[in-house]
Amino acid sequence: MSWAGTILRVNLTEGKIEKEPTSKYVKDYIGGALIGTRIFTEEVPPDTRAYDPKNLLMFNTGPLTGTLFGNRALIATKAPQGANQLYTFVGMGGQLASEIKFAGYDHIIIKGKAKEPVYLFINNDTVEIRDAKHLWGLDTWETQQRMKTELEDPEVQIACIGPAGENLVVYAMIVHDINNTAARRVGAVMGSKNLKAIAVRGTKGVKVADPKAFLALYDEFYEDITKGRGAPFTKMQHKEGISRQIAEAYIYAYGAPIPEEVPHSPMIDFLKKYMVGPIGCAFCPMQCHQNLSVPGIGNAGVNCVNYFGLIYQAMYDPTDFEVWWERTLLSNKYGLDSLAMDMIGGWLMELYKRGIITAADTDGIPMERRSRKAITSLIEKVAKKEGFGALFTDGIVPAAQKIGQGHLELADQYDNDFPYGWVEYAPDLGPVAKYRVAAVARVPGFADGYGNIPSYAETLGISPREAAKLIDEWASDASERITGDRNLWRTPKYDKRISKMIVEKEDEILVADISGHCEVTSAYLEHYGMRFNIEHYAKWLSAATGIKYTPDQLREAAHKLRIITDGYNALCTLVIGEEPLLAKPMEELASFPVPGRPKDPKELRKVQIDYSLTRGYDPETGIPTIKELEKLGLNYLAKKLATVASPHAEQSPKPKNKVRMSPGKSN
Ligand code: SF4
Repeated sequence: MSWAGTILRVNLTEGKIEKEPTSKYVKDYIGGALIGTRIFTEEVPPDTRAYDPKNLLMFNTGPLTGTLFGNRALIATKAPQGANQLYTFVGMGGQLASEIKFAGYDHIIIKGKAKEPVYLFINNDTVEIRDAKHLWGLDTWETQQRMKTELEDPEVQIACIGPAGENLVVYAMIVHDINNTAARRVGAVMGSKNLKAIAVRGTKGVKVADPKAFLALYDEFYEDITKGRGAPFTKMQHKEGISRQIAEAYIYAYGAPIPEEVPHSPMIDFLKKYMVGPIGCAFCPMQCHQNLSVPGIGNAGVNCVNYFGLIYQAMYDPTDFEVWWERTLLSNKYGLDSLAMDMIGGWLMELYKRGIITAADTDGIPMERRSRKAITSLIEKVAKKEGFGALFTDGIVPAAQKIGQGHLELADQYDNDFPYGWVEYAPDLGPVAKYRVAAVARVPGFADGYGNIPSYAETLGISPREAAKLIDEWASDASERITGDRNLWRTPKYDKRISKMIVEKEDEILVADISGHCEVTSAYLEHYGMRFNIEHYAKWLSAATGIKYTPDQLREAAHKLRIITDGYNALCTLVIGEEPLLAKPMEELASFPVPGRPKDPKELRKVQIDYSLTRGYDPETGIPTIKELEKLGLNYLAKKLATVASPHAEQSPKPKNKVRMSPGKSN
């Protein structure tokens, strides 16, 4: 129950469509990203490159997808960026994932490469590979509109690529509807398969095992999100999004005094002026995306406005948010990751300011800060692979060899590890990273909660200081729940229990990715007031599937997902053997003063060792040990890893190559 029951396999080279039961994977791998990752890592040889037809592109859903609790598709593939082109998966909301379930499928696995542009059409049991030559070259919005008209069905759900994906730009995204995106490099893989789109229509619904218990659990969830502890966060989303949240988190995390009044934000003024209302994914009471209509530019939705706010403002120092909106719409239409474009734009502008490049390097367009022409031209030229934009097709690192005299370190100062260091999904980060830098960097600070201070204060009609106390309470609750100590989250000193908090927070995201639920409404954001944790997931999944899951079983599933991903990526790195790029050296991370994260690099290193030991990784290499893989029954992976390196079953293999600590430093 609650699984659709079928895995759909499409071979574009052979034009073959096959179906197999999901049931053979369910017992050990539950669903979503975990089943997908198990299949991928068994079937794709580690030396496969992202654009190799052997690479798989997967759309994975979980047992909760298509029920009131879930709407996520986890899109998985080997990503094109980075030295060793590692395995990654990224979530996408909207209605697509639920529609895949309604059509009768838990996973869609696409292999091979079509000779000419095609799209995949799924209408319940009917699956066809159809000609898409007439769609090639259209942007993502035009593509969806044209397909809905041709299919004579406005309800068909479509995910597609734009020109960026067709041109194999590494920053290409897959776009669904006007604002749901799967970024982090998966769009170029779809382009490499000559697959313009998938269109899905399903009418079968999803059945749950115990509807009464399931609805009672949903009522509890809905009440909390709309009226309980989660309500302030929901209300804030509906009012203004979380645009300033992350940006201001950095201010307060650095120890700035909490203001007495809510500080003025020009970006919030812009949002308030043009926001039509909140929108979001199917069934979700949070509706955390913002629908904006800006005269003369266009009407669309945006999500994760926080990152737009932070990165965009940092890169371009704007006074004119209409340009921000224009760049957002352009990026979505071209199917290009706007955050990566902001990073590149910021880098080019810094080079221009310092006289390292001139307008002659960028097709006569001066890369001046705040320049509308500079910002929009960059997006258009990168997507279309035109002029200087073509330099960035393979990423900012190769571009830096050809432009800017290799001054990649100037991008680094804007945290330009972004293409490499995106926390959970960083292809180059996890496996041969000597330490799991990202995990330690992100948790257990909870400091990003402070970014909510102004918005919570405004939403709840309280002072910023009262809002800060509220956030402290929530973070303390989380700290106590996980470690038994309310104050652990703020300690600047090493404590053995810190790694426990890191692992639990990681697991909360991974359980969401296995279930098909969105982590934004889970206790992963407990310090924002969200309270639904792995204990709740166990109840939701049990009621939906009819199988009794315990929280510890779900933690083990999350651990499996983490370790298979890291183990496979270690294998790819060992086999391909090129140097990985790491996001940040320890010293840099430690210098970023987040409460709850040791400031002394040596103490931070101890946290990494604890983390590695908890996960069953070799603390020296950060690679899963053969012993841990075997303990989890992952013998297929253990065997492959053992063949490329250490014969000692208790140790992990050692990478042969030197690990480069920062993309900027070696150029
Ligand atoms: S909280 Fe998650 S599921 Fe809900 S609208 Fe936002 S992104 Fe979609």
